[in-house]
Amino acid sequence: MDIKWIWVSLTAIGYGSLTWLAVRRRWQRFTTELLLVYMALSVLWIWSKQLFGGGVTQRVSLVYGLVVLSTCLGMLTFMFVHQDQKRAWFWIVDGGAILLIMIVLDLTGARWQAWSKFSTLGLSSSVAVIGWGLLSAVSFVVSWNVFRKTWRPLYRNRFRYWMLAVILLLFGTGLFILLDYPFCNLGVLLHMVGMTGALAALLAHRLPDLSGVVRKFLKQVLLALLTSLVFLGGILVAQQIKLRLAGLLGTLLSSVGVAVILALAFPVLRQRLGMMLDRLLFGEGYDPQRILDEYSQGISNILDLEVLAPKAIGIIGEAMGVRHGTLVVCEERADHAGNGMRLRPIRGIGTMSLRPLQVSGHSSLLVFMAETRTPVSQYDLDLLPRFRQVPEEQRRWFANLGTEVYVPIYAQDRLLGILAMGAKVSGDPYTSADIALLRTLARQTAVALENARLVDDLKQLNAEITQLNQELTRTNERLAILDKTKSDFISISSHELKTPLTQVKGYADILLQVSQGETNIQEAVQQMAEGIVRGVRRLHGVVDAMLDVSLIEAQAFAVHSGLVSLKYIIEQVIDSLALALQERRQTATATGLEDLPHIMADSTRLHQALRNILINAIKFTPDGGDIQVQTRMLDGGTEIEIAIADSGIGIDPEHHELIFEKFYRASELNLHSTGQIKFKGAGPGLGLPISKGIIEAHGGRIWVESSGYDEDQLPGSTFYIVLPVNVEVADPAHIAI
Ligand code: ADP
Repeated sequence: MDIKWIWVSLTAIGYGSLTWLAVRRRWQRFTTELLLVYMALSVLWIWSKQLFGGGVTQRVSLVYGLVVLSTCLGMLTFMFVHQDQKRAWFWIVDGGAILLIMIVLDLTGARWQAWSKFSTLGLSSSVAVIGWGLLSAVSFVVSWNVFRKTWRPLYRNRFRYWMLAVILLLFGTGLFILLDYPFCNLGVLLHMVGMTGALAALLAHRLPDLSGVVRKFLKQVLLALLTSLVFLGGILVAQQIKLRLAGLLGTLLSSVGVAVILALAFPVLRQRLGMMLDRLLFGEGYDPQRILDEYSQGISNILDLEVLAPKAIGIIGEAMGVRHGTLVVCEERADHAGNGMRLRPIRGIGTMSLRPLQVSGHSSLLVFMAETRTPVSQYDLDLLPRFRQVPEEQRRWFANLGTEVYVPIYAQDRLLGILAMGAKVSGDPYTSADIALLRTLARQTAVALENARLVDDLKQLNAEITQLNQELTRTNERLAILDKTKSDFISISSHELKTPLTQVKGYADILLQVSQGETNIQEAVQQMAEGIVRGVRRLHGVVDAMLDVSLIEAQAFAVHSGLVSLKYIIEQVIDSLALALQERRQTATATGLEDLPHIMADSTRLHQALRNILINAIKFTPDGGDIQVQTRMLDGGTEIEIAIADSGIGIDPEHHELIFEKFYRASELNLHSTGQIKFKGAGPGLGLPISKGIIEAHGGRIWVESSGYDEDQLPGSTFYIVLPVNVEVADPAHIAI
C-alpha cells in the first residue's frame, strides 16, 4: 500500500477519535458544531497535502485553508473566552476580508517584485501567511488577556489548556505548511495534540492542574539529574581510589565500599532532595495531623460564633495559604413553600459582611450537598449543568462571598454550616489532599458550631426580650401619662364647664335681684346679659369641642367636601384673629399663598383646624411675638404643605406626639386659664386632637417640630400640615369659598 494512504488513515483515525469525543461530550451546541467544522476542515486541509502532489490546486487549498482554519480558531477562542456567539461571528468578517484580498490578488495575478526577493510565495500566499499569523496571535492575546484578569485557579487552569492548545495549533499548521511531505506530518501531530488540548479546555469540566503537572514533571527531571550527579561523583571517587590503591584492597574499597556508601546514602539523599525540590516547586506544605490537632484544640471551647469563625477559618487559612474565608451558618427557616434555609455568613478572614440569604430547601446546591456530603467549588457552581437552576440572585450572593470551595458541615443529617474558603494565595487549586483535610476539619467543626449556635440563639432571644422589655417600659410610661390625662380630664372639664356656668349663674342671680327691685337700670341689665351670653358661648365652645372629639373617636366625623381656596381660608383665619393678635401685640403673616391650587376640602373644618393651631401659636408666644404661615408645594405638586411657625416657648420633643392626644397638655395644669388667648393659658386639651382629626379626614398629615421647651430662649414651634391636592380646577365657578 502507498505510504500516503497510511498517513491519510492515521489522520482519519486521530481526528475521527477526537470527533467521537466531541460528539459524546456535547457542550454548548454552537461551540460543539464549530469545533466539528474546524476538525473536518483541518482533516480536508491535511489530506489535500498528503494526497495531492504540488500544483495549483494544492497551493490554493493550502493557503485558503490556512486562513479559513485560523478564522475558525478565532471564533472558537471567542466562544471559549466570552461565550458570546454574536461576537464570534465578527471573525467571519475579518477572515472573509483576508480571503477577498487573496482572491483579488490571485485573479489579477499580482506579484510584487520587491516582495518576491524575500519570499518564494506568491503575493496572495504571503497575505495568507500574514493573516494566519495575525488571526492566531489575536486568538492567543485575547485568551491571555482574560487569563491575566482571572483569579480563580480552576478557571486559570482551563485558560492554560486553551492557550497551550492555540500555540500547538499555530505551530502545527505552521510546520505543516512549511515542511515538505512527509516531514509535514510532524505538524499534523502537533495539530492533533493541540486539538486534544482545545477539546479538553472546551468540553471537559475537571482538568488536571496543568501547572502542577509541569511542576511534577520538572521535579522528576531534576531529581533524576541530581541523583545521576551523585552517582557520577561516586564513580569518579571509585576510580580515584582504584588509581591510588592497587591490589585487592583498592578493588574492594573502590567497588564494594563506594557501592555500600551509595546504597546506604541513596534513599536518604533522594528523600532529602525530593523534599527540597518540593519546597522549591510547590512551596511550604503542611502537616495534616498537626493542623487537625491545632484546629480541634483551637475551636473546642469557643461559644461565640463571631469568635469561632475567624479562629476556624484562620487556622485553615494559615495552613493552606488562604487569606479569605467565611463561615456560613445554615439555619432552618421555613419559606412560603414550607421548608427553606437561611444562610448567614459570619466574617472569617479577609471578608466583608454580607446580608443573609434565604434559599429554598430544594436548592440544587443544598440537595447536592445533602446527597454527596462533598465540597463544591465555585467553578462547579458556575459550570455544572446540575446547578443551572440556581437563581441569578443566589449566584450573585455566592459570587460576592469570593469563595473557591464550599465545604458542608453536617451533624447527623442536618446541614449546620458551610466553610467557604477563598482561593490560595499561590494561585494553585485545592488538591484532593486539601479537600480531604477540609472535610475532616468540617466534621470537627460540627460540635463547636452547634454549641456556638445554641449560645447565639440564646443571645438573640435575650436581646429580643430586652427589647420587648424596653418597649413595655415605654408603653407603661405612655399609659401612665394617658392615665394622668384621664384624671386631669375630670378636673379640667369640671373647671372648663364650671367657670362659665358660675359666670352665667352669677349674672342670672343679679338679674333676678334687679328684676325684683324697683330700680330700672338699663345699662346694668345689658352688661349682665352680655356676661351671660359670653358664658353660654364659652360653654357652647367646650361642649362643641367635646362633641367633635367624640365624633372623631367614633370615626363618625363627616367631611363635606367642595372645591376650596386655601389662600382664602388662611387669610380668613388670620383676619378672624386680628383682635386677639392686636391684644397680644403680635403679628401674623402668610407667604406663598399666591400660587396655591384649589383643593377638594371641607372649608369650615379646615378653618377650624387652622384656627386651633393659630390660637395655640398666639397663646404660647409672649406679647409682641411673631407668627409666620408659609405654604409650598411638595412632591411635584401633588401635596401642599402649610407651616405655622411661632416664636413662642416651644415644646419638648417627648410631648410632640402626645399633644395630639385628647385632654393632653404639655403645660402645667395650674397654668390653666379660661382666657382664650392669654399667654400660656391652657385650654381643655382638645384643640390639637380636633385639628389632627380634621386633617387626617382630608387624607393629610400633621406634626410639630420644636427643639424644646424654654421660656427664656423662646425656641418656638412649627406645626406642619400636609394636604393632598386631589383635584384640578375645572371651573372656578364651582369653588366653594
Ligand atoms: P389646649 O386647649 O390646652 O390649647 P391643645 O390640644 O390645643 O389644647 O394643645 C395641647 C397642648 O399642646 C397645650 O396645652 C400646650 O401645652 C401645647 N401646645 C400647643 N401648641 C403649642 C405652641 N404653639 N407652643 C407651645 N405649646 C403648644
